[in-house]
Amino acid sequence: MPTAIRGRLPRVIGPIPIPAAGERATGRFTFAGDAGLARYEWPYIAFAGASRGPTFLVTAGIHAAEYTGIEAAIRLGRSLDPREVRGTIVIIPLLNRPGFYERSIYVNPEDNDNLNRLFPGDAKGTWGQRFAHHLLTEIVVRFEHSIDLHAGDLIEELTPFVGYRESGDATRDERMRAMANAYGAKWVVKSGATGERPGMMYAVAAQRGVAAILAESGGRGLLIEEDVARHVRGVTNILRAVGSLAGEPERVAPPRAVKSFEWLRSPVEGIFHCRVAVAQEVRTGDVVGDLTDLVGEPLATVTAPTDGVVLFSVTSPAIKKDGLLLGIGAL
Ligand SMILES: [Zn+2]
Repeated sequence: MPTAIRGRLPRVIGPIPIPAAGERATGRFTFAGDAGLARYEWPYIAFAGASRGPTFLVTAGIHAAEYTGIEAAIRLGRSLDPREVRGTIVIIPLLNRPGFYERSIYVNPEDNDNLNRLFPGDAKGTWGQRFAHHLLTEIVVRFEHSIDLHAGDLIEELTPFVGYRESGDATRDERMRAMANAYGAKWVVKSGATGERPGMMYAVAAQRGVAAILAESGGRGLLIEEDVARHVRGVTNILRAVGSLAGEPERVAPPRAVKSFEWLRSPVEGIFHCRVAVAQEVRTGDVVGDLTDLVGEPLATVTAPTDGVVLFSVTSPAIKKDGLLLGIGAL
């Protein structure tokens, strides 16, 4: 139930204690009912506004080496002024706790699954499925709004974009559109209620009633200030736009929607030579890269399946069969 309707601030949200009105608190939480999960503690920063307002969740690090999102979430947690907060803001800067110091790419080392493909999870499943279940049901669905911060992974680069999955609920979809518009990205990836790559946290959260979006900035394991600052500025503007923070939102140009998000995978194992750059626009049939074997013999040429813009590419040339190469937003 929204805080504003209940008329007082919640004291806990799932395992996360919420401080008194007008205060900020940091700490660590765990999922005590699950022995495997309880071997870890997750950091949080919680703000309770002095006045009523929405409930807003900021998460990052579901992919453990997407450092700009993690750094931006931590920075938001230190820079937001609780006196300017309306309602409740909770920041969880590192969801993939097992993977962080392991420098895991894509997956969580507890079970080598991609945590962002496992939602809604399963209380009796693998470590990742259980984490997804507890995170979603005890924390995420208790919020009206959420944003999940990403970057290109350790071996990916990208051009900044935001994304959300339409829920079919007109009010919620409009809220997500307004959040995406307030971030300040050039591109938005909008998808329907079903589709490729199921199990993403933000998409399942949207189906469960949360106005949930994702934002991508940075990559390659680099803490480039401009990429971190983009996330901080984007989230701050969204917080103002939805009324979680005092002050008028900055007016930013809304992003352009791509028609679909085509992920290109390699037909062979080989060395990938990418022939395009992120943010570059391509036409159907353009050569975007090629693969050779380990003595340089040509194996495959990769072409664009659609007119579009290259939103991300893999920077490591070592590609397994079916390995991800790049993503094109169709125009
Ligand atoms: Zn990610």
